[in-house]
This record gives sequence, C-alpha cells and structure tokens, in this order.
Amino acid sequence: MSATALFGNYARSKLAFDHGEGVWLVTKDGRRFLDCGSGIAVNSVGHSHPHLVAALQEQAGKLWHVSNLHQSPDGERLAQRLAEATFADKVLFVNSGAEAMEAAIKCARRYHYDRGDKDRFHIVTFEGAFHGRTLGTIAAGGQEKYLEGFGPKAPGFDQVPTGDLDALKAVIGPHTAALAIEPIQGEGGIREIQTDFLKALRKLCDENGILLIFDEIQTGVGRTGKLFAYQWSGVEPDIMAVAKGIGGGFPMGACLATAETASALVPGTHGTTFGGNPLAMAVGNAVLDVVLSDGFMEEVQRKGLNLKQKLAGLVDSHPKVFEQVRGNGMMLGLKCVVPAGDYVAAAYDAGLLAVPAGDNVVRIMPPLTMTEDEIAVAVERLEQAAGAIEEKLVEGAAE
Ligand SMILES: *Cc1c(COP(=O)(O)O)cnc(C)c1O
Repeated sequence: MSATALFGNYARSKLAFDHGEGVWLVTKDGRRFLDCGSGIAVNSVGHSHPHLVAALQEQAGKLWHVSNLHQSPDGERLAQRLAEATFADKVLFVNSGAEAMEAAIKCARRYHYDRGDKDRFHIVTFEGAFHGRTLGTIAAGGQEKYLEGFGPKAPGFDQVPTGDLDALKAVIGPHTAALAIEPIQGEGGIREIQTDFLKALRKLCDENGILLIFDEIQTGVGRTGKLFAYQWSGVEPDIMAVAKGIGGGFPMGACLATAETASALVPGTHGTTFGGNPLAMAVGNAVLDVVLSDGFMEEVQRKGLNLKQKLAGLVDSHPKVFEQVRGNGMMLGLKCVVPAGDYVAAAYDAGLLAVPAGDNVVRIMPPLTMTEDEIAVAVERLEQAAGAIEEKLVEGAAE
C-alpha cells in the first residue's frame, strides 16, 4: 500500500520544495534548484516576485470572492489591458487552461448555432495537439493515451496531420465550426507551426465561414518573446485560450475573442463560480504590470536567443545525448537521442529542473525574468547533466 492519501495519478519526483526565490527553488533540506520548467510554463516572472506577492497580499486583506453575480472592476481592468494588447475585444476569465479551451469550443459552436447553423459544431485539431484533460479537451487533443478508458470520445472533433493542407481541406465541410491550433505545440514537444501554415488556416477559415482558435495556454504571456506567439506570424485568431503564465502561479485562465464571436455567449449560456475571482484578477494585473513594462519583451527575445544559441552549442558537443534544439524565446526544446526522461533525471541531479514533452523532447522554459548570469549557470548544469549521461553510456558499452 502506498503511504500517501493523494490519488496516484501523477508520477511525482522525490523533490519537495519549501520556497522559491526568482528562478530558484529550495527544498525542505536546503538544496537549491534552478527552475528551467517554471512549473510547466506557469511561473512567468519567477517565484515570489515582490510585485505579485504585494498584489496578492493586498487583495487578500480586502476581498476574496463575490461571485459573478456582481461587478468586477479589477476584471474589467485586466480584460481591457488584454484587449488593448491583442486582437481581442472581449475576455472571459476562467480557472485553468482546459476551461479556457472549453469556453473557446463552446463559444465557437454557439456562434454558428446563433446563425441558424446548428449542425456546424465540428472542431478540427492537429496531430500532436494538447488542449487539456476534460472530456471535451481530450477529444479535441485526440490522443489515444488520454482518451483510453474514459468512455466514448465526445463527438465533433476531427484531427488531421499538422502542416497537411490537403488533409485539412478534405476534412472541413459545412459541419466545421472552427480550427484549433497551438502556434507552438508544447506537450507535443516544442513543435513550431510554420507561419505559412497559419496564414493558410486563416485563409481557409475566412473562405468557409469557419472560426480560428489559437490555444496559447503554453505559448502566451511573453513565453516566446511576444506577448502572444501569434503576434510573430501576424495571423490573428477569432478566439484564443490563455492560462499558465497569465497568473504567474495563481490558478487562472482566460478566453479572448472578437466582439462578434464573444457575443454568442449571452447570459445563461456559460459560466464559472470562481472565474475572474478578485485574487486572480489582482495577480493577473500584477503579471501584466511586469510583462508589459518597457523593454521586457525585447529582453525575453534577446535572452531567449542567447539561451538558444548556447543550447545549440550543447547539442553540437553532445551528439550522443541530443539531436536538436528548437523553439522560440524562452520556450525551447532539446530533442534527445537518449530517453528524454533520463536526461531530465540527470538534470535534477545537476540541480536543474526541466520538463519532458512528447517526441522525446526536454523543455527548457525558465521564468522570463531569468538573467544572463543565471542562463550561464543553467547551461553549466545542462552540460554537467549531459556529461553524466555520456559517462553512463560509456559504462553501459563497456559491460
Ligand atoms: C497546459 C495546457 C492545457 C491545459 O491547461 P490546464 O491548466 O492543465 O487545464 C491546454 N493547452 C495547452 C497548449 C497547454 O499547454
């Protein structure tokens, strides 16, 4: 029998952290780890950021929850700021990424329903996608390993290979409500979608009255060096799901949309008890204060490029461990030759946290606030981990 009363649905490491300072996490027994995972792209501005701590503490002394039965002044402010910085006119706040995607899917379906198109409810997604773990979003993601054993897959989701326009054209029809795509697949292994493909998607959507949904839950809030990754391509969606980095560690998500699309969700059609909670709104505004400050994005771009170049050097000098570096900004991936999980374990031993992903990739996604000096330490530790793996390979060969 296991010693914990927690569900066994996570394969947790043995590490137990006590507190965090910037890019560092400290265990209960005082060991310091450089956090190059940001809790899977969540701690966008690092741990215990003084501005976020102050915002949360101030809000905690004032008001925690009033429900969505009443006005939300701080939510209005956060929504306005997100709208001004993006394609969107309207924002719905939720509590997680999967909920943001669920809202995006419901919004798209209801938009067509309102136009008398009640059979137009299919959403096309792309192989390697990840959109969350609810019954709707596992159907959207379409991965057998997440669907298995959970009953019939929710209807209305079609999947095609990423980058394959012909397959896409073959699957869309009068039943297609929306296409949904991550501008860079995160869980799928830092797989970048080409700008040309995004442009082609936009064109197909416009020609066929289909909505375009971007899942920027992992790529958003500065992760790629723009506030949102779509801003690199110039291709704007109609609906966008956001979460992870937007709360800097406070659980929250958002569904952003154009006014026309958002107008589908009238009172009674959708809701959430906690979404847009005053604590979340205070922290969300504080995160934006940091990431929208002058020069912040340029810094992320500059540091991200430097980090990527250093990782390219690491790949070159350890061909038995790595195959490739990919990604943009501070959303980088090391495609491994050895099992990605083995490399992540070696990195832990070297005092660095990274996160495995699909396609045998290790994700390097530090807080956006990581300094050049800290990048240098990260690369040293990644190097050390690669050396340890190579030693094991040599020992293995000698046996
Ligand atoms: C993490 C993630 C989700 C799911 O978010 P949760 O907060 O875990 O529900 C959905 N889409 C993408 C691209 C993600 O990275």
